[in-house]
Amino acid sequence: MIRLVAGNWKMNGSLAANRVLLDRLEAAPGVEIAVCVPYPYLAQLQQRPAGLALGAQDVSEFAAGAYTGEVSASMLAEFGCRYVIVGHSERRALFGEGNLAVGRKAHAALAAGVVPIVCVGETLAERDAGQAMEVVGRQLAAVLEVLGAAAMSSVVLAYEPVWAIGSGRSADVGQIAEVHGGIRAWLAAHGVDAESVRTLYGGSVKPGNAHEIFMAANVDGGLIGGASLEAGDFMAICRAA
Ligand code: PEP
Repeated sequence: MIRLVAGNWKMNGSLAANRVLLDRLEAAPGVEIAVCVPYPYLAQLQQRPAGLALGAQDVSEFAAGAYTGEVSASMLAEFGCRYVIVGHSERRALFGEGNLAVGRKAHAALAAGVVPIVCVGETLAERDAGQAMEVVGRQLAAVLEVLGAAAMSSVVLAYEPVWAIGSGRSADVGQIAEVHGGIRAWLAAHGVDAESVRTLYGGSVKPGNAHEIFMAANVDGGLIGGASLEAGDFMAICRAA
């Protein structure tokens, strides 16, 4: 399957800075590239380099109504979003999003024709306790419970060990391959068409480590935080895929 490299700008950017960044992004052969931007910039990103897919960083689990501050999946679809990140560890840790809420957000996205990039991953304490795959399995199980096995094969997954995000310390290739293989096996054991689920790695991916990470077994691309804000680094990572 074609690899996907998605940039997560997080809460960064300005109209002027975005323009400078966008002017330096371009399609790369053989890889799908997406940028997941803060909501207000979805309008600005209507003009973007050809071949660059658009995404958002969160979505409401509700379709419409009295939910002040929320943004629905159909609104994202109207602005041409192909992807939306759900369950990023920052949303789980800082905004109290639970596993089932993440599943409901993925469901809302799919219902509007937007592909959820569902983030899963363990904390350092959980890894040190030997519970990485158990935690990831629990996170996957909640999404599967909401979506069902058929719809689950339409999501993109992102394995993002919490301790590797923004830390400068990526998981090593062995750790990445182990969890990605575990995810593939978990999906297959739960009746999901595991081969059709793209599973990205995220956590301190940089130009210097991107190639070996993307070559690891069962890694279908990357979710890139900090390095997606620097055009040269982001394009180097995209080309490494
Ligand atoms: C992320 O926020 O999804 C991420 C992977 O961040 P970073 O690349 O900065 O570790």
